Amino acid sequence: MNALQKIKSTDFHLSEYEIVDLLRIEVLSKEFFELLAVSNDRSRQKFGNRGYVFTQIGINAEPCPINCKFCSMGAAHYSMDSQWEKTAGEICSQLNWLQEGYFDDFFLMTTADYPQDKFLSVGKAVKPLLRKDQRLVANIGDFDLQTALQLKEAGFTGAYHINRLREGIDTMADPQEREATLRAIQEAGLELYYCIEPIGPEHSYEEITAEILRAKELNIGVMAAMRRTAVKGTPLYEQGQISAPELTKIVAVTNLVVDPSRAMNVHEPIQAALMAGVNQLYAEVGANPHDTDSHTEQNRGFTPAAAWNMLREFGYLPPVD
Ligand code: SF4
Repeated sequence: MNALQKIKSTDFHLSEYEIVDLLRIEVLSKEFFELLAVSNDRSRQKFGNRGYVFTQIGINAEPCPINCKFCSMGAAHYSMDSQWEKTAGEICSQLNWLQEGYFDDFFLMTTADYPQDKFLSVGKAVKPLLRKDQRLVANIGDFDLQTALQLKEAGFTGAYHINRLREGIDTMADPQEREATLRAIQEAGLELYYCIEPIGPEHSYEEITAEILRAKELNIGVMAAMRRTAVKGTPLYEQGQISAPELTKIVAVTNLVVDPSRAMNVHEPIQAALMAGVNQLYAEVGANPHDTDSHTEQNRGFTPAAAWNMLREFGYLPPVD
């Protein structure tokens, strides 16, 4: 029985070799659509028609020393149109404006060297503006267990943190430090949000599989797959980007192997992936590593309303519609 036949018979215990096999399926072939159908079924069974929109504010647009070769804020190739940092007051008013619509979890993102004490006070300032059911998530540089506990104390419920593809090669982050942060997040009892990213045409299926298996080990509630956006001015711009069907295939395989309990995401939003089990999308405001406009809500970033429109077309709804 090959890997596709196996998942069609609802056996999802796949070896590394079988995962690579699924990733090798030719996009737009009959097998490709069979893979999507299995992933879609799995999500519909788990998630029903519950959709999720998460919203992130990138709170500073500044040169970042980690110099990720795909990011518009890498210090060595800063490609954003301006530099600024939002005050806690500005972040609160932006959140109040966003709260006029409905969205689920709320993320605050910074560059890697943003001072952690300042970040904690921003977290404390926004927390009272969130509904009781709305989770608060940190998307920041590496940190230790003590900081993870402080984040929890400040009202954060989770953190987005990952070991990126070619971490330490295309970035100046230390993969061991990334892993230590992942452990600190889980040890502190924060929810870990994970993603296979940023996927580019140069990544082999073996590399992608290694990261999918890492995520599987981490027992993730909210999972994602993201293609690298080719941002003009960044060192990896010339490498281009993978197609929407290719990303959709990777989403399907990731969903089946990692088996997230709450939601599956694709980033940036593409409709095709909603046929492969995606029930969650991000809205983005402020700084965004994939954008040269430092106010991404005016350019690449989706608003919560736009994200809900896309989800609704595929039958994924907020809890009260
Ligand atoms: S992706 Fe994050 S860590 Fe990397 S350069 Fe950009 S802001 Fe810094």
